[in-house]
Amino acid sequence: MNLFNKLTPPEDGDKITFKAGEIRVPDRPIIPFIRGDGIGPDIWRAAQPVLDNAVKMSYSGRKKIIWFEIHAGLSALQLYGNEEVLPEDTLKAIREYFVALKGPLTTPVGGFDYVCLTCSAEQNGSNGRKPETCKKCGSKWVTPRFRSLNVGLRQKLDLYACVRPVRWFQGVPCPVKNPEKLDVVIFRENTEDVYSGIEFQQGTPAAEKVIHFLSQEMDKSIRPDSGIGIKPISVTGTKRLVRKAIQYALMHQKQSVTLVHKGNIMKFTEGAFRDWGYDLAKDEFRDRIVTEKELWDEYNGHMPTGKILIKDRIADQMFQQALLRPDEYDVIALPNLNGDYLSDACAAQVGGLGLAPGANMGDEIALFEATHGTAPKYTDQDKVNPSSVIISGALMLEYLGWNEAAYMVIRAIEKTIQEKKVTYDLERQMNGATLLKCSEFGKAIVNNMG
Ligand code: NAP
Repeated sequence: MNLFNKLTPPEDGDKITFKAGEIRVPDRPIIPFIRGDGIGPDIWRAAQPVLDNAVKMSYSGRKKIIWFEIHAGLSALQLYGNEEVLPEDTLKAIREYFVALKGPLTTPVGGFDYVCLTCSAEQNGSNGRKPETCKKCGSKWVTPRFRSLNVGLRQKLDLYACVRPVRWFQGVPCPVKNPEKLDVVIFRENTEDVYSGIEFQQGTPAAEKVIHFLSQEMDKSIRPDSGIGIKPISVTGTKRLVRKAIQYALMHQKQSVTLVHKGNIMKFTEGAFRDWGYDLAKDEFRDRIVTEKELWDEYNGHMPTGKILIKDRIADQMFQQALLRPDEYDVIALPNLNGDYLSDACAAQVGGLGLAPGANMGDEIALFEATHGTAPKYTDQDKVNPSSVIISGALMLEYLGWNEAAYMVIRAIEKTIQEKKVTYDLERQMNGATLLKCSEFGKAIVNNMG
């Protein structure tokens, strides 16, 4: 029986499964993918042959990804109609097959009633009616404003950890002297803090009610002309994120996990994140970890072999550390908002978001994604850099346990960049580089494999 409304799964291939929490990957896993909006189709066209070729060459054709196209954003609207931008089929497919890869999706910024999914322009309707076509590009794919599809996917699939490895690729122009010293994997909490924050607009009866309640019932005074924001951080959300970060550090033989927080100011949210993180580390990984305090109290500053150091840093200080002493950090776990800032700042340090991969992970589901947006002004120009989705694909291969193929992708990207054969974004920063189109860059990577 077909599970889906408008999708037909591939006949070839097998499902990834889990047994006792362990992933089981067949030789021909079915992997759903979302091309994405804007530049998404261009980067996907360049990326897929790179990933397929790496798998083919690494395993002499014995393994193969069986791709299964699913939809969100513009392509969902085109297939499903009815203003459907995140169909139930898409969520079902990711739940069913556990691992998926996606391109970028349009997210309306706000303030307007409608958004064009072709060029991202936002506009109001006339006389309360939806515009027939986009005022900017003439496209008919205009739809009522919706909440972020990325946030929707993360929340509906409970993908609580946003994982972003950030490191320098040799040859990439960047603003610091020793970019190779930064090599971190950031675990950002993906469901709470500002992502499940509640806001009350200044001047509304709701805001006044909250201010009144806090004053009368809690003896807390807030300026009457304030907007109000509430940021929840829970034991559950913190512990499952920190657990994942420590498990990752152990599996990849990393030396430390750093809990980053603003606990000096927000004691019961950010400070609690730090405390619950340490509690979890001691309760569940006691014989595998040493805290920074224990390191000095019990080990005289000498790290015992085979253990991971658990330390914490206040967020503002962490930004300084990432620039000045980056090699002292491996895995970093943070609440949502600070994680957002730090992951982009670290990516900028090594040359920008264009080469930064990402994954959203739950207990079993993992959704890998390009970290940049839809760059609508470059749609269908075959121009942009496809590296972010390719490297996210490599991260996915590593997650499947196909390390040889993942390594081959990364080596071939590095080699292509070192040969100075690059897309416009890197070409404009390099002397004597050859400018390639998006698809040509993909082909150059394939040519550099093996
Ligand atoms: P953006 O799409 O990331 O693009 C901003 C700029 O970054 C581009 O104009 C371009 O710079 C550069 N850029 C992005 N991707 C590139 C690539 N692959 N190769 C080379 N350069 C690249 O950010 P935005 O314009 O703020 O957002 C556009 C839409 O994407 C919005 O709807 C936004 O909400 C959405 N978005 C989605 C995701 C996601 O799905 N994960 C993430 C972020 C934003 P130059 O102009 O300098 O060439």
